[in-house]
Amino acid sequence: MDTKILLPEDRIPKQWYNIIPDMPGPLAPVIHPGTLQPVTPDDLLPLFPMGLIEQEVSNQRWIDIPEEVREIYRLWRPAPLFRAHRLEKALGTPAKIYYKYEGGSPAGSHKPNTAIPQAYYNKIFGTKRIASETGAGQWGSSIALACQMFGLECTVYMVKVSYNQKPYRKSMMQLWGANVLASPSDQTNAGRAILAQNPESNGSLGIAISEAVEDAATREDTRYALGSVLNHVCMHQTIIGLEAKEQLALVNDYPDVVIGCHGGGSNLAGITFPFAADKAHGKNVRLVAMEPTSCPTLTKGVYDFDYGDTAKMAPVAKMYTLGHDFMPPGIHAGGLRYHGASPLVSQLVHAGVIEAKAVPQTACFEAAVLFSRSEGIIPAPESSHAIRGAIDEALQAKEEGKEKTILFNLSGHGHVDMAAYDAYFGGELDDYEYPEEAIKESLAHLPKVNF
Ligand SMILES: *Cc1c(COP(=O)(O)O)cnc(C)c1O
Repeated sequence: MDTKILLPEDRIPKQWYNIIPDMPGPLAPVIHPGTLQPVTPDDLLPLFPMGLIEQEVSNQRWIDIPEEVREIYRLWRPAPLFRAHRLEKALGTPAKIYYKYEGGSPAGSHKPNTAIPQAYYNKIFGTKRIASETGAGQWGSSIALACQMFGLECTVYMVKVSYNQKPYRKSMMQLWGANVLASPSDQTNAGRAILAQNPESNGSLGIAISEAVEDAATREDTRYALGSVLNHVCMHQTIIGLEAKEQLALVNDYPDVVIGCHGGGSNLAGITFPFAADKAHGKNVRLVAMEPTSCPTLTKGVYDFDYGDTAKMAPVAKMYTLGHDFMPPGIHAGGLRYHGASPLVSQLVHAGVIEAKAVPQTACFEAAVLFSRSEGIIPAPESSHAIRGAIDEALQAKEEGKEKTILFNLSGHGHVDMAAYDAYFGGELDDYEYPEEAIKESLAHLPKVNF
């Protein structure tokens, strides 16, 4: 039995899977944050190119991947599917564990799968420059890479505390030609307003989003790009699950359970949506989202309309949310600290198609250490949540003496996040209590929307 299940380059999928026509019920409208009425494509044009707006609302099940995009995907796709023989042995489980490894992209995560097509559709639309934001830098480095590939200028507003404390991803962005600004910056009204109040502000993702959105909305040559949550982002990521399905077919296998970590929903959508399609047609397969107990959007949030960002500039969407002003504790899986979730993932969780589970961060680091010591690859702290989920399924199979086929997505490597492992080995990591009061407080501020 092989360890790596590989596809040749000519088997890179030629189409993305759009789950919208297979959703259990109609989609809720997306609401304008100012008028609280449904948004129109015209409202979105200052922020996104037409090609992406069309994808956001498309009812077409299969959407062609442009040849220019497939050519760049060839640099790291098809991504390998691994059979985790050594992890299985370490656990003594009768279960088969497979993982799709997305850390082989130049940026080290799944995010370039959407950054590349986003830059492409901007290029053909005539966009000259992209403005975006980044927390710890995973999305910023991916969009910088993509802009470089298509000759677009790129400005990234990077949350100031990360800019100062995690300089390596800033260097990656600069290496790929992006202009990186510490946010709050003096380049936007939003940034200047924060600095006037507090010149020492460390910034936040909400502030950085506001700066990037303002930058894009006020410049004709510039559009905005978002690395997760949106329908078109989830669709671009389905290339992960489509390849995995083909790879499993090569070894005559099919998963009983498919697992991904959940921040905004994009890598989870990527690995699960192609299997959700089978499930919609009667196939018996479980789909599981793993999130941190400190930011338990899917397990403790409400399914309701809320703003996409703290500053209430981004559209209002129906999703699981902890409230747009919820500030999660500073856990090391920075990519899993979003208050909301993809509306598509949310609807599927609400309908019972996807299950959600929350896990504390030390349990995830334990899983990451076992994984690194058996499989070798050092996982991103975000990805360790999916590993925890897979290990728990495998241990349950052992207890029950049952065979089971487990597939999970290893969304990225942890090479630029070694400070997180330093903290773990230094005994400095705590498990935060479920922040019940903060969530209750924040949920009192949802917008009143009647659709
Ligand atoms: C950004 C990121 C995530 C979380 O984002 P999703 O949109 O939920 O996928 C997970 N893993 C890695 C490696 C990331 O960089």
